[in-house]
Amino acid sequence: MQAGLRADQILRDVFGYPAFRGQQRDIVSHVAEGGDALVLMPTGGGKSLCFQIPALVRDGMGVVVSPLIALMHDQVAALGEAGVRAAALNSSMTWADVQSVERRARQGEIDLLYVAPERLLTERCLDLLAASKLALFAIDEAHCVSQWGHDFRPEYIRLAVLAERFPGVPRIALTATADALTRKEIIERLHLQNAREFVSSFDRPNIRYRIAEKVSARKQLLEFIRSEHAGEAGIVYCLSRNTVDETAEFLAGHGVNALPYHAGLDSSTRELNQNRFIREDGVVMVATIAFGMGIDKPDVRFVAHIDLPKSIEGYYQETGRAGRDGLPADAWMVYGLADVVQQRWMIDQSEGDASYKRIISTKLDAILGLCETTACRRVTLLDYFDEPSKPCDNCDNCITPPQEWDGTDAARKLMSCIFRCEQASGFSFGAQQIVDVLRGKSTQKVLQFGHERLSTFGIGADLDATQWRSVLRQLVMLGLVKVDHERFNTLRLTEASREVLRGQRRLSLRRQVARPVSRRNERKDRTRVAANGVIGVAADAGAANITVFEALRGWRRDVAKEHGVPAYTIFHDSTLHELAGTLPRSLDELRSISGIGATKLERYGTALLEVMQRAAE
Ligand code: ADP
Ligand code: ZN
Repeated sequence: MQAGLRADQILRDVFGYPAFRGQQRDIVSHVAEGGDALVLMPTGGGKSLCFQIPALVRDGMGVVVSPLIALMHDQVAALGEAGVRAAALNSSMTWADVQSVERRARQGEIDLLYVAPERLLTERCLDLLAASKLALFAIDEAHCVSQWGHDFRPEYIRLAVLAERFPGVPRIALTATADALTRKEIIERLHLQNAREFVSSFDRPNIRYRIAEKVSARKQLLEFIRSEHAGEAGIVYCLSRNTVDETAEFLAGHGVNALPYHAGLDSSTRELNQNRFIREDGVVMVATIAFGMGIDKPDVRFVAHIDLPKSIEGYYQETGRAGRDGLPADAWMVYGLADVVQQRWMIDQSEGDASYKRIISTKLDAILGLCETTACRRVTLLDYFDEPSKPCDNCDNCITPPQEWDGTDAARKLMSCIFRCEQASGFSFGAQQIVDVLRGKSTQKVLQFGHERLSTFGIGADLDATQWRSVLRQLVMLGLVKVDHERFNTLRLTEASREVLRGQRRLSLRRQVARPVSRRNERKDRTRVAANGVIGVAADAGAANITVFEALRGWRRDVAKEHGVPAYTIFHDSTLHELAGTLPRSLDELRSISGIGATKLERYGTALLEVMQRAAE
């Protein structure tokens, strides 16, 4: 049979999906016919099928190189649930298990073999592969060959040996890292000069981007989780280990199922927490950026940043971990003046030379630009990766457009106030004092320094403290006011301030939106978005469906526990939503649900029908 037709059939029968997504079909046929490929696709784009299906179409065993030993077991288990003969070879296995896998490989009893790179490069393993029939090599997380990237793994460079030792076996390299430099490095280092490149859009349409002003990070976070994501899985990123510990404790103290993760915890605690996050429903992981690579949990419903990330690349990678299943998900962030000050300070303190500092400052400016923009967040984000796009209707700025206002007068008042306070006292002051003077508040400190007698006392009573802080933050970002870290974060004017003070430059500022966008009333849409409109769920099916969905979720939890696998390897949330929305009555009707292949139908079909019937009664 033609490779394309077999691929369609495997997609339906084994994985239970009705159609390929995006470029998947082209990639699958190209590799199934023996071509090399370089695949750039965002997280959640569906990279795994791009090598899993060709490996099943072709004769022999597909070898998957992956650096994520901790997650191999789950990947293998997920394939096992779908009836695929998969196995892993890595350093966490017993000798007896290794031998058994090797024997099965030689006898042609394995379809997909997951191997850590250091293991693959041993003579023993290369000999094993030479003695086995091979369908293909898939090199996952291929950006690990890049010496400039933060995931660099020296063993990845030695993977070039595959091209020499196995010239006839197709190779497919995959990554979610977007930039051109990394792409070039992958091609050179892995000898993929003849590979066809497949570059997907890096847009993640189901993720809603929202960035708000930080007032009280933890309280805002708690309110966000409670009102929009109660009982759902999410990741909260923080800058420091301390903040991680405190935030996890705070959330747990308020009834959120939250766990900490950072490099300062011992490895068994880290592993335990990671496992609970992956396996249990609705765990919130509070983490530093040490957490996340390769976590392919599909139902992470939100990623929150309570500290400003260092770059747009970082923000994109981290937020990308939300909503891999294609269902609506939130990327939510709060940031404030303190973040800007802290990051600038960290750059000043860092050890790198001037050009290094310039590069990371530019990256910081780019992420600040994303925070302060009045344009569509998605357009700004994709533009950073040189991808053109249109306003998205799924970010805070599109949904509730922020107002731009002429902030020239406000800026001048604030700057004169900084100037007058310093002139009167002989030294500079911090944000609190300046805002108090502007608003005409006779605090103890204002009276102590006689600032109530300044001409700028009370000239800013028309704006409240939050609005003044927002103005100040934007001035700091624009380089019109400098925060002096060495002197207790006091405020200084800069060379550039003069133009504004003299009235030679006008400033357009962003006005804080009073109420942040929420998706409180939109939850009922979820089922429909799940299948991209393919399933027509009645809008009023809501209440009954939730009962069925919860019953299915409970059933899935028990089965997953019994099998010792993460719940999502049994069925994804999207499959459960579709079941709850359509209530199939027979095995035949179950067959048409996305995510139910032949093996799962046989294993779980009857149980599913029973659970739904009982719950719907
Ligand atoms: P990536 O590795 O690119 O981050 P995955 O391969 O993990 O993405 O796929 C993301 C999710 O989308 C998975 O849950 C996967 O089962 C699902 N998926 C992938 N391709 C399809 C498809 N053609 N139809 C339906 N679901 C798909
Ligand atoms: Zn938008």
